[in-house]
Amino acid sequence: MASLYLHIPFCEHKCIYCDFYSIAPKETEENYDNLVQRFLTALDQEILIRGRDATFQSTYETIFFGGGTPSLLSPTAIGTILNQLSRSFSISDNAEITLETNPGTVDIRKLREFRSAGVNRISFGIQSFHEKDLQFLTRIHNADQARENVRNAYKAGFDNVSFDLIFALPGQTQELWNSNLEQALQLAPTHISCYSLIVEPNTPLHRMVEAKQVTPLAMDEDADMYEQTMSVLADAGFEQYEISNFAKPGFKCRHNIAYWNHENYLSFGPSAHSFWNGKRWWNLSNVNGYSDSLSKGTVPVAGEETLSSQQWFDETIYLGLRSEGIPLAGFERRFHKDLLKDFKTIIDGLLTDNLASIEENRLRLTSKGYLLCDEICRSFR
Ligand code: SF4
Repeated sequence: MASLYLHIPFCEHKCIYCDFYSIAPKETEENYDNLVQRFLTALDQEILIRGRDATFQSTYETIFFGGGTPSLLSPTAIGTILNQLSRSFSISDNAEITLETNPGTVDIRKLREFRSAGVNRISFGIQSFHEKDLQFLTRIHNADQARENVRNAYKAGFDNVSFDLIFALPGQTQELWNSNLEQALQLAPTHISCYSLIVEPNTPLHRMVEAKQVTPLAMDEDADMYEQTMSVLADAGFEQYEISNFAKPGFKCRHNIAYWNHENYLSFGPSAHSFWNGKRWWNLSNVNGYSDSLSKGTVPVAGEETLSSQQWFDETIYLGLRSEGIPLAGFERRFHKDLLKDFKTIIDGLLTDNLASIEENRLRLTSKGYLLCDEICRSFR
């Protein structure tokens, strides 16, 4: 089993907190439509080159359009990419096909056409239902557009709808965050991802914090909101299957689970990272460099690494504890170590403090453990 990821590097506007690679029209002097067209031609070429490589023969179970803002592309463009993928790779009949969608870029017609093109899971970047938050984050949409397009997605035939929300915004109170969660639940999503606001280096938000124009929320308030999130979503019938991800039964994101299980995935587009049998490589984070390279028939790889046994170990601990736990048998097969015996002191401490449990032959963090996940992972080094 394997997965496919496509990084669509275009946004209508760059949000102040975002450090993903994407460009907005006002950041380039080139004609934007030409830039998009050149990218699509290059993407087609990259898919063809990788598809011809026998190394990547597999059955692909998930396809994920991320970015950037993939919903800026037309449904025809998304349909064309999906057809190209089907011609180059063996795609499972029941593949999960996700499109990250900015609520400010779609309407009922476009959503219907995405559905007809083959997209069967939609992930809305809603972030907040409060106008003040959306303005602070410099999102291009308002809360009404988000609500309307979620309803439109259901009308368009999507039954697998996810929301991204951000908490721990400067000045945010528990009450305001709670009201965000309640408004999200009223719209009946099948999946919710909740992230606390991170001040990433080299973003406008970082410069605002440095200039003391913005004061990040205190860490204890951030932790309180996270605890509140876990409790509210559990009460609403969502299962937490990763530190930031919550799903109704049957709606866990199969694409993300593949990442967390170290499954093989092949990625396309500028800045996209791939992973195949322990080797990881990443593309140039530059749409022009990416397109130029592919116009000469060369894959636009900027760097690569083969995981050392220490990296495998660290990632297995980190990815497992962040998600549904470390499988004991799989751990022993890979590392020739008995997790429960060889790390007895650490694990006994975690079990005693109710930070972890052993469930279905996995060492899994509890809600209390998720709060201390980074610290717990470090203790295994
Ligand atoms: S729309 Fe998404 S990808 Fe684009 S700048 Fe905003 S957060 Fe980043």
